[in-house]
Amino acid sequence: MDTDLYEILGLDSSATAAEIKKAYRKLALQYHPDKAAEGEREESELKFKEISSAYEILSDEAKRDAYDNRGSYHDYSQGGHGSDTPNDYGPQDFFNFFNGMNGSVPQGQAPQRSAKTENAELDVQVSLEDLFKGKTIKITSARNIICDKCHGTGAKSHAKTKTCSICAGKGSVEKIVRVGPGMVSRHYSDCVNCKATGKIFRTKDKCKKCDGNALVEETKILEFVVKKGSKNGETVVLNGESDEALNKKAGDVILTVLEKPHDTFARKGDDLFYNLKITLTEALCGFSKVVLKHLDGRSLKITTPKGKVLRPGHVLKVPKEGMPIKDSYFGGRGDLYILLDIEFPQDNWFLEKNDLDRMSDLLPETLFSKRPKLEAVDAATQEVDFVVIKESELPDIIEEEYEDHGNEQYYEQYGGSEPQCQAQ
Ligand SMILES: [Zn+2]
Ligand SMILES: [Zn+2]
Repeated sequence: MDTDLYEILGLDSSATAAEIKKAYRKLALQYHPDKAAEGEREESELKFKEISSAYEILSDEAKRDAYDNRGSYHDYSQGGHGSDTPNDYGPQDFFNFFNGMNGSVPQGQAPQRSAKTENAELDVQVSLEDLFKGKTIKITSARNIICDKCHGTGAKSHAKTKTCSICAGKGSVEKIVRVGPGMVSRHYSDCVNCKATGKIFRTKDKCKKCDGNALVEETKILEFVVKKGSKNGETVVLNGESDEALNKKAGDVILTVLEKPHDTFARKGDDLFYNLKITLTEALCGFSKVVLKHLDGRSLKITTPKGKVLRPGHVLKVPKEGMPIKDSYFGGRGDLYILLDIEFPQDNWFLEKNDLDRMSDLLPETLFSKRPKLEAVDAATQEVDFVVIKESELPDIIEEEYEDHGNEQYYEQYGGSEPQCQAQ
């Protein structure tokens, strides 16, 4: 769908550097203003500028690359519109981007048809379940469309109309501005006199359906397909579904997907994360149970291997149980990570004091076989008091050390050139 710059030179986007040069030479000769007849000189000059601008970009490898990769913004705005007119939307923007010209383009033909009405944008919150399964979102849209009774003239069909004298029937008025040496730009705006219809008619002849406005309101249901696996911030674009206007392409309606936070799952790319609480008994003895209800309603059951001890920090990775990968041909899925939170029993969990001895007998004497066994109590042993605190209650020693270290590095690196506020 890369149009215009290549089309201006009568080429397609695969043209070689030599072909571009040849096409430019031929056209430049043909449209050179010096060769034009008296009355066609201005037209010829504009065409010549257009050809030169196209050549300037396409003959420069870096600029041509940039033009070829204009990026998704332009793909969006052009997507689905085809390139039937030589004045499609994207390249004007590109011209503006390159020339720093504001909303105007040097070119031979009136650009009204290339102009688009404003895009309509909306944000929609979508649940993780719906992003998992995919969802069609229906929105009622009310927009202006060109009146089908009068075909956008605003007048009754038998009405005697006169061509608007202000715009000469074009519906827009133009102004040619010199923006620099060798640079001409055209500004267009809708003709106020004829409401951009190009025609003038008597008040009693105005179209009843649109009251002479040439536009009527249309209400319709728009369907946005949010594909399964879509991510937060992605857009679904319906081309040409925004307001219609005379001599303009209808803009697009753009829906932005906002992922609703989920109660139990967290998402990172195509992977899902789930926090699972298990008891100390389960961590030591294993378990076989349903651990979670998935986004599609399935219950997932996990059976740990006999003898496997689950420790703090362990994560159970369940391959291919994450989110669907969008547009995956083979139904690809991310992974599911189950983060374990081992619940220890309450203080005084035992029923009888004797339970402690039984537990003690059952568990291995040391949890780590290589840990040296401490000597039995002797004369130098002293019983000390303690309290149990949490890790988060530890003093901030680590951070201070880090800062000191940072300063050392600073002085090492910059030697004598400390900032002025520092005492020498
Ligand atoms: Zn009408
Ligand atoms: Zn007019």
